[in-house]
Amino acid sequence: MSTVITADDMRFDAEHIWHPYTSMVNRYEQFPVVSAEGVTLTLADGRQLIDGMASWWSTIHGYNHPHLNAAIQEQASQMSHVMFGGLTHKPAIDLARRLLKMVPDALQQVFFADSGSVSVEVALKMAIQYWHSAGRPGKHRLLTVRNGYHGDTFGAMATCDPVNGMHELFTGMLPQHLFAPAPQCGYGDDWDEADISTLQQMLETHHEEIAALILEPVVQGAGGMRFYSPHYVRRARELCDQYEVLLILDEIATGFGRTGRLFACEHAGIAPDILCLGKALTGGYMTMAATLCTQQVSDTISQAGVFMHGPTFMANPLACSVANASLEILETGLWQTQVQALEQGLQLGLEPCRTLPAVADVRVLGAIGVVELIDPVNMAEIQPQFVAQGIWVRPFGKLVYVMPPYIMDAGQLDHLMSGIYKVLSSL
Ligand SMILES: *Cc1c(COP(=O)(O)O)cnc(C)c1O
Repeated sequence: MSTVITADDMRFDAEHIWHPYTSMVNRYEQFPVVSAEGVTLTLADGRQLIDGMASWWSTIHGYNHPHLNAAIQEQASQMSHVMFGGLTHKPAIDLARRLLKMVPDALQQVFFADSGSVSVEVALKMAIQYWHSAGRPGKHRLLTVRNGYHGDTFGAMATCDPVNGMHELFTGMLPQHLFAPAPQCGYGDDWDEADISTLQQMLETHHEEIAALILEPVVQGAGGMRFYSPHYVRRARELCDQYEVLLILDEIATGFGRTGRLFACEHAGIAPDILCLGKALTGGYMTMAATLCTQQVSDTISQAGVFMHGPTFMANPLACSVANASLEILETGLWQTQVQALEQGLQLGLEPCRTLPAVADVRVLGAIGVVELIDPVNMAEIQPQFVAQGIWVRPFGKLVYVMPPYIMDAGQLDHLMSGIYKVLSSL
């Protein structure tokens, strides 16, 4: 198979292939990539880019990793896929065992899903079916906070920020859930109980109709790249217990070490009733996600019937095998020093951006670095400028952010940081 990309291929792509969040008429330039190794993407014209995005939070151990390659190749020679209805297999069993060892003890059951959005759909269905099974079908609405992002499918969209969440256009077709203000206390700020008072009032008023509170713990991703106080998450857990509402934590972006803890809920020292995982689960190799729940949730649903969900490619063995290999690498614990080093490097490297005229704020947590600008970027202009610096950074709106592969070394990070500085200083 040829990996050469011709001008004709690029024309075909432009005319016939949708890319994420794009117009087929006013398209931004797409950059053809032919291979990826470590933290480097190689473009068709031979240029090499240091990847600041880890392919949307997922490629934590880097590209073309020998251990991950071997796992998927070996599994392909055994069995690439088999239906999960009535059948089971070792890659899925191993993966569920590994996940349960990593997450808070309260979580005991694993539902494998195809993508992050689907794992959120599954979580929402679980929460609603839980209350239905418990004889309280009136508890079917969801509560969340503004600036959240939980995915692009209909159920998930309805829990995204109604304005920033990219789905405003569909508002009239979505169930109307309850939105509290976004948390304002920053990650390291002193806790102010007023930060959660509206959420508390909404629970007080509506708890008889609320199935679950869904949150991205500590880091809100695509809804604004905001970091907030772990104490908020702790109080949210207490309020959920008090008002008999399930707590769903969406750790699709934050899971597997990204925030400096294996899971962001560890910053708060609490466990959710339902946990969504995705993105880095397979080390960035394949699409796969998981929804985990407590014994209480699974018993209540199961005593009343069956859980109503079952994707065709559920627990795909190739995805499970590469997820197992990725978790094996995480189990060595090396990620902790890698993420710490990245956190320091990002703090040092992004700090100079703070004084640039175009910049409103700079913030870093774990291996996540964010430069918030005063005005939204012009994507058509800025994307090629990053590429010209030999780095891959893909902003959205006012946010220029990076979450590099954990294996990025100091020299590569320097290159990434100085490239960002150069581009932003020209704005
Ligand atoms: C990316 C993301 C999702 C959606 O995952 P997909 O795999 O893109 O469907 C959901 N929640 C959060 C927090 C995410 O970052």
